[in-house]
Amino acid sequence: MSGIDLRGLNKSELAEYIKSIGEPAYRAKQLFRHIQKHGADDFQSMSDLPESLRSYLSENTSLVMPKIIDQQTSAAEDTVKLLLELADGERIEMVLMLYERWQAHNRATCCVSSQSGCAMNCRFCATALHEHFRNLTAGEIVAQVQIADKLAYDMGFAGITNIVYMGMGEPLANLDAVKKSLELLNDEDGMNIGMRRITISTCGIVPKIREMALWGYQIGLAVSLHAADQQLRQKLMPGAAHYSLDELLDACKYYREKSGRRVTAEYALFAGINDQPSDAAKLANLLTESDILVNIIPANPLPEAGIQPPEEAVINNFCHLLEEKGLNVQLRRKRGADIQAACGQLRRRQA
Ligand code: SAH
Repeated sequence: MSGIDLRGLNKSELAEYIKSIGEPAYRAKQLFRHIQKHGADDFQSMSDLPESLRSYLSENTSLVMPKIIDQQTSAAEDTVKLLLELADGERIEMVLMLYERWQAHNRATCCVSSQSGCAMNCRFCATALHEHFRNLTAGEIVAQVQIADKLAYDMGFAGITNIVYMGMGEPLANLDAVKKSLELLNDEDGMNIGMRRITISTCGIVPKIREMALWGYQIGLAVSLHAADQQLRQKLMPGAAHYSLDELLDACKYYREKSGRRVTAEYALFAGINDQPSDAAKLANLLTESDILVNIIPANPLPEAGIQPPEEAVINNFCHLLEEKGLNVQLRRKRGADIQAACGQLRRRQA
């Protein structure tokens, strides 16, 4: 297979392509369903398409589907991490999280990567350890969800219900492909995943948050804050802290107004770095009256960068201090840490 990747085309682009090769319009709809709803990875299985068209598509187009190179399941069997290889040999990791197996509407969340590697240079994040990175295409992002969907089915779940753009990379540095991917995933003839079930996490690229606000989608927005002090944030997140905290909070407020969704601030606690009561006081001060939810994430260790989580008592005290000031605080349950699948632990691994 070679040529244009049909997985990255939306309905109108696919219709245009089908028209350009002289096929009737309804073929585009059939093809779209095969690709987006059923996650097809070859044309031969599309038995409602004439053989001649299947052969033509096989020779002239492609259907990007990363190869699973490695699969690890956490001891609790609620988290699966996949190492995927893309068509050009580039490798990414993605994570599947399974919840509430015992309930009627069980939830399966897929954590997708938007880039292979990352250019933002956050000091505490394993993805930043490599210099090289590249943007993923919309097709490569959609394919991750389709792989996770099949896996979830195989594990007794009703497929993927939620998506978080919290894997490798900075989604807002690849916003066009990210936007296209979520429109494809949301399409009623595709996987039909509601916008409210999709969350994008960003290190805080202010103009792009404002751009997202104008989409008119009810997508959840999470902002990686990690410091309530500009100087400390600059040290920890040199790429992101190019924007001031004031600008960032203004953009969050704007997103809240336009989308109707409450914004979440992610604050990872790094022992001895941002976990003191004075840090909690600064954070409370910054977010007071902002309507932002605070998600506290005990650091996942990154020994090569001197990153460790604080003691349990320090974590609890930090949360308590925020709550005392009236903030809405959630302590994120750690999952998948035993297979390096937790926040900030994804890297371009060689199998
Ligand atoms: N680039 C986006 C998406 C990545 S999401 C962003 O920055 O939001 C991954 C999340 O894990 C981010 O909130 C990131 O800041 C956080 N993270 C990175 N390293 C971590 C670590 N060692 N411990 C806990 N969280 C970490």
